[in-house]
Amino acid sequence: MAAKLIKGTEIREEILEEIEAEVAKIKEKHGVVPGLVTILVGENPASISYVTLKIKTAHRVGFHEIQDSQPIDLSEEALLALIDKYNKDDAIHGILVQLPLPKQINEKKVLNAIDPDKDVDGFHPVNVGRLMIGGDEVKFPPCTPAGIQEMIVRAGVETKGAEVVVVGRSNIVGKPIANMMLQKGVGANSTVTVVHTGTKDLASHCRRADILIVAAGVPGLVKPEWIKPGACVIDVGVNRIGEKISEKTGKKIAILSGDVDFDAAKEIAGSITPVPGGVGPMTITMLMKNTLKSLKFRLGIN
Ligand code: NAD
Repeated sequence: MAAKLIKGTEIREEILEEIEAEVAKIKEKHGVVPGLVTILVGENPASISYVTLKIKTAHRVGFHEIQDSQPIDLSEEALLALIDKYNKDDAIHGILVQLPLPKQINEKKVLNAIDPDKDVDGFHPVNVGRLMIGGDEVKFPPCTPAGIQEMIVRAGVETKGAEVVVVGRSNIVGKPIANMMLQKGVGANSTVTVVHTGTKDLASHCRRADILIVAAGVPGLVKPEWIKPGACVIDVGVNRIGEKISEKTGKKIAILSGDVDFDAAKEIAGSITPVPGGVGPMTITMLMKNTLKSLKFRLGIN
């Protein structure tokens, strides 16, 4: 039986429409809209395209958005001063510094300088701590894990009591999603196992999973025989495995693959995310949701 496809592109549209409607209501009642600034240092082409997409999406849902582009030789001091300016700006509710930063700037120092109440990426240690405590303490769950959880919920997959296996222990995906799935509450309350490069028998753990979340960055790592029949498989991996010419634009584009052998896995899983078009579109969507939440916290309407 072929698995149900969990399409990030469709879920994104649903969520963006919800955000757009909520922004319009808040604007009418309170006369304010969420404000998001993205700070880009230098001209890395991948960073430019990410920032452009973030700003485009923010514009679409009715946010006040600023793209603050800075030269590649910007000093750390000048960037910290810029963050301080936006920390104090009442029209800004979310500050995002596009990574990577040039060598002369200490990334950690910069991310830690963002006001935790405007840290819509959820990477500040205060927000990491809030996520660990769970419940009402959580303000901004990091965007990719938040997107994963939202997809699982909207696909109608039962999480309470489910065996969740997370492949990967990075700070941006593996650790936070594992932590989120074990909390009490909607879309969680699961029994979580995290596997990684130090794990002895990856396959045996994966085979137990009712929900298998894979974020390793290794194409085809998860074999079809590692998947429990009927499981929900969330493939976070985005790996460039070659290039092709786009039929639409005639330009060279990357061929992407996930961490799961999709064609074989979809015959065994109950539901599965494709790559591309699965988890990918959810990250920016959740950034918008966090920025809206930030304004709502400010207005006391959560
Ligand atoms: P990372 O390299 O920081 O972490 C990968 C983790 O996987 C590590 O903890 C490592 O222990 C584990 N791992 C690697 N190879 C393994 C193996 N052979 N066996 C067991 N464990 C192994 O990567 P990341 O930032 O967490 O990203 C993971 C993947 O997800 C990448 O492909 C990345 O491009 C993708 N990603 C996608 C999105 C998105 O769709 N929006 C966001 C973030 C990351």
